[in-house]
Amino acid sequence: QAKELGKNRYSVYTPELLVDMVYEYRLEADLRKALENDEFVLHYQPQIQPQTGEIVGLEALIRWQHPSLGLLPPGKFIKLAEENGLITQIGKWVIYEACSQNKKWQDAGMAPIKVSVNLSTQQFLTKDLITFMKDTIERTALDPQYIVVEITEYMAMEYEYSLNVLKQLKAIGIGISIDDFGTGYSSLNYLKNFPIDYIKIDKSFVDEIMIDHNNAFIVKAIITLAHNLQMQVIAEGVETKEQLDFLINQQCDLIQGYFFSKPLPANEIEKKYLVQQK
Ligand code: C2E
Ligand code: MG
Ligand code: MG
Ligand code: MG
Repeated sequence: QAKELGKNRYSVYTPELLVDMVYEYRLEADLRKALENDEFVLHYQPQIQPQTGEIVGLEALIRWQHPSLGLLPPGKFIKLAEENGLITQIGKWVIYEACSQNKKWQDAGMAPIKVSVNLSTQQFLTKDLITFMKDTIERTALDPQYIVVEITEYMAMEYEYSLNVLKQLKAIGIGISIDDFGTGYSSLNYLKNFPIDYIKIDKSFVDEIMIDHNNAFIVKAIITLAHNLQMQVIAEGVETKEQLDFLINQQCDLIQGYFFSKPLPANEIEKKYLVQQK
C-alpha cells in the first residue's frame, strides 16, 4: 500500500505529516519572537551534599512559557533552536539571566551557591563565548567562582579548540562540568588534560544502579577515576532512597534529582532552599 501511495508524489504528505509540519513551522515562527517577548524562564534544580543536606549548587534549566501551548520543556524546542541557529541568542539569555539571578540572591544576603548553565555545542564553538562571559561577569558583578558551565563529551571532540576555550574559562575563574558523562564519546585523554571540576554521571546509569550490576560497577569506577583526577562527581536523576544510599556509599560528592527536588522557579528555590548567610 505504501508503494501505491508513493506513485502520486503529493500524496506522500499524509494529513498527519502536514499537521506536524505546520506545527513545527508555527513553533519556529513563535520561537523567533520568544526572546523579544520575554517568554523564557529558568527553573533551578538543587545539587545537594548528601551527608550534610547542604545545598551547594543549582542547575539552571530553561523553559518556554508559550502564549498558547503553556510551559514547554527544553526537549520541545532546543533541537529546533539548534537547527535554526537561535540557540546562540537563547544561550546568551540563559547565561545572563542565571548570573544576574545568582547575584540578586547574594545581594539579598543568601549564603552563596554556584549556578550551572548548559552550553549547546554551537554556543561553545562561537568565537565570542569568552568575551560574552567576561562582559556578563562585569555587567552582573557576580564573582565567577559561582558560575559553572556544563558541556558534553561531544564538545571535547574538537580537542585543541575545546582545550583552549576551557583553559580560558578556567582562567576567568568559571567552573567546568562534563554533563551526561558516559553517554557520548568518553576519552581518558581529554579527561586527563582538560581543566574539569565536575563530572555528572548520566541519569541512565543512575536509573539502573539497583537493577544492573554492570551499571553499579560503572558508577563506582567513574567515581574512583574522577576522584583520582581531583574532580567531583554529581549524580543526576537520583529518584530513590536506594540510589541515594548506594551513591553515598561510593563517596559521590553531590546529588541532583527528584529525590530531593524537581527544578523549581527562582522564587520557590529561594523559599525552600536558600539560607540567609550567618
Ligand atoms: P541535562 O542538562 O542533563 O539536565 C537534566 C535533566 O534531567 C533536566 O531535564 C531535569 O529536569 C531532569 N531531571 C533531573 N532529575 C531528574 C529525576 O530525578 N528524574 C527525572 N525523570 N528527570 C530528572 P530538562 O529540564 O527537561 O532538560 C533536558 C535537557 O535540556 C538538559 O539535560 C539539557 O541538555 C537541555 N537544556 C536545559 N536547559 C538548557 C539550556 O539553557 N541550554 C541548553 N543548550 N540546553 C538546555
Ligand atoms: Mg545539564
Ligand atoms: Mg545532565
Ligand atoms: Mg542527562
